[in-house]
Amino acid sequence: MAPSTASTTTADVDNIVPIDLNIPDNYVQHTLKTTKARPPFQWSNILNELNFLNCAILTITPVIGIIGAIYTPLQWKTALFSVFYYYCTGLGITAGYHRLWAHRAYNASVPLQYVLAAFGAGAVEGSIKWWSRGHRAHHRYTDTELDPYNAHKGFFYSHMGWMLLKPRRRPGVADISDLSKNPVVKFQHKYYVSMLLIMGFGVPTIIPWLLWGDARGGYIYAGVLRLCFVHHSTFCVNSLAHWLGESPFDDKHTPRDHMLTALVTVGEGYHNFHHQFPMDYRNAIKWYQYDPTKWFIWSMQKLGFASHLKVFPDNEVRKGQLTMQLKKLRRQQDNLAWPSDSNDLPVISYESFQEQAKSRPLILIGGFIHDVSTFVDEHPGGPHLIIKYIGKDATTAFFGGVYDHSNAAHNLLAMKRVGVLHGGMPHGLDEKLIPPSQRLKIAKYTELSSPYASSAAYSDGEGMLG
Ligand SMILES: [Zn+2]
Ligand SMILES: [Zn+2]
Repeated sequence: MAPSTASTTTADVDNIVPIDLNIPDNYVQHTLKTTKARPPFQWSNILNELNFLNCAILTITPVIGIIGAIYTPLQWKTALFSVFYYYCTGLGITAGYHRLWAHRAYNASVPLQYVLAAFGAGAVEGSIKWWSRGHRAHHRYTDTELDPYNAHKGFFYSHMGWMLLKPRRRPGVADISDLSKNPVVKFQHKYYVSMLLIMGFGVPTIIPWLLWGDARGGYIYAGVLRLCFVHHSTFCVNSLAHWLGESPFDDKHTPRDHMLTALVTVGEGYHNFHHQFPMDYRNAIKWYQYDPTKWFIWSMQKLGFASHLKVFPDNEVRKGQLTMQLKKLRRQQDNLAWPSDSNDLPVISYESFQEQAKSRPLILIGGFIHDVSTFVDEHPGGPHLIIKYIGKDATTAFFGGVYDHSNAAHNLLAMKRVGVLHGGMPHGLDEKLIPPSQRLKIAKYTELSSPYASSAAYSDGEGMLG
């Protein structure tokens, strides 16, 4: 069983053209229009639409495992070994298939590549080549018809339904020419079935048999049941990680971050981060978050088996986080009532202000006319101080001349605006006159005024004077 690199020359291999090099600019639209999806799955077409091999693997394994466990006593050494072997084969997928081959998040030495390819085969999830091709399409066409495990088709579909059925349509194009050149990937693809049998069932049976005489326990617990756990653990990356948790980096698509998902997927639970920064060797960026796959890759680097670990610039990662935080704040901001803007208020002459103040309590502060009728009796300093300023300019008194009012008082005052005094708006932007709750606001780019806004306000004032 030698690797079959003999007949292909290096030149041939280097000449592999990336499959997506010449796709049309409107590839997604074009493909959805010109290719047909398989008919919707119904009980009437079940025999036509099922993938029988996958159905058999995914149903017979748990049945053998459960029945086997009922009749096979579990020895503690076998139990520990099963957990250990779960992590080995899990890492074959997460550190190998996923972060090394599908995403090129780091470079691995050839011995490490063989180890990961072997353990990955023991997870029985297809060859590196097949798996990575689908996964690259998943990232490129996330949540669309061209995503092979489109999370919009439901939890069960993205978890395993997509494997039980024949593919609804071909996954969107994704280049794997780099993998087609890789001798380890080629070796694994060629000998995949043998490697699957040896690593999935042979090794976990033989080791407990030779070391503590428990072949049957090894087969059932470290082989079959461990395989069920690895399956559903990694399947959770496509289902649970697109369903449970927060979107701290981007909420455009379904991927989410959650500790629980990380716990069941050997650290692949920070999936919102991962979809934003797929070439980063980390999924969790904080030291206390559970990401054993990251720790494994980091350790391999320390031991000299891995290099070029890719890390996305922290500055850009934080921009994503800030964007999402601002979005949240914006929602809070939109849920509050804000004072009327000077543009929305009537402009009142000084004479009219005087006249109107005779029939209702109007006070002028900072160019705005406020109706304080609902507040006179509640004024903490006593109603007399308000009554004294009815029909007058209380700007100086309000801003410290009599009492330097709190931010809350200023915010509340602004809610009582009923008009703007003609010619009464001060020049420029005096921060003191802006209610504190409005000095810093979340604005969409379309709402941001031009950089000349303050000078424009100034020239308006000039205009009024003229
Ligand atoms: Zn995903
Ligand atoms: Zn990925």
